[in-house]
Amino acid sequence: MSNRPFIVGNWKMNGNRAMLAEARAIDRGAARCPGVRVGIAPPFTLVNTMADAVQAALIGAQDCHAEASGAFTGDISAAMLADAGAQFVIVGHSERRALHGENDAAVKAKAEAALAAGLEVIVCVGETEAERDAGKAEKVVCKQLDGSLPQGEGVAARVTVAYEPVWAIGTGRVPSVEDVGAMHRAIRARLSAIYGEDGAGVQILYGGSVNAKNAEELLGADEVGGALVGGASLTADSFLAIVLAAAGPGAE
Ligand code: PEP
Repeated sequence: MSNRPFIVGNWKMNGNRAMLAEARAIDRGAARCPGVRVGIAPPFTLVNTMADAVQAALIGAQDCHAEASGAFTGDISAAMLADAGAQFVIVGHSERRALHGENDAAVKAKAEAALAAGLEVIVCVGETEAERDAGKAEKVVCKQLDGSLPQGEGVAARVTVAYEPVWAIGTGRVPSVEDVGAMHRAIRARLSAIYGEDGAGVQILYGGSVNAKNAEELLGADEVGGALVGGASLTADSFLAIVLAAAGPGAE
C-alpha cells in the first residue's frame, strides 16, 4: 500500500466529453499535491479519453464483469478496462449491490478478475441505516469483507477497502468521527484476520457525503486512509478542496 492518502472520485452515471475540462483541472491539482494519490472513476465511456488526458491522476472504472470476455451483452471486462488505460476499478458499490443484485460472491469474483487483469481494486462495503440502528453495523461489514475480498499471495498490496455507510451516500448525512474510527478499527482487525500481516497495509477509505467542509475531520479519524467521493468529485473546485484537506497544512 502507498502510505499517501488516496482520494478517489466516483462520477457515477455523470459526465460527458465536455467534463474532460474538469478532469484536466483535477489532474493539475493532483500534480501540485504529490503527497496525495488522486483517482477519478468516470463512466466507461470516458475511461480511455480521460486516461489519455491526465498525467498525475489515476483513472479507474466503477465496475467490471467477472469474466475476461464472452457473450455478456452490455458488460465490460477488467481486461478491457486495463486495455483502455484504467489503473483501478471499484467493485461492490452499494448502488451495484442494491440495484443490480450483486452479492458478496459476485463482488469477490469481480475483484479477482480485476487483479488478474493487472488492475488495483477498491472493494466497497457498508451497512444500511436499519442495520446500524439494530446494532449490527460491524457484523454486517465484517461479513461483507469475508465474502467480498479477493484472497491469495500478495493480493492485499493491490486491494483498497472503501467503507461507505449506505445511509450516508448522497444524503448529506455523515457518521460521527468516533463511529467512523470505530468501524475503521473493526475493518483493520478483520483485514488482519483475512490477510495476516499484509492486512496492516491495506488502505481503508471512508465514503459517504464527504465534502470540502467535513473532509479534514473525517480524514483525521482512526485508520482512515483516504476518501471515496461521489457528488463532490464532479467539479475540480469541490474535489480539489478535499485533496487539499488530505494533503494537510501548507498545501495549496
Ligand atoms: C459514493 O457514491 O461512493 C459516494 C460516496 O457518494 P457521495 O459522496 O455523493 O455521498
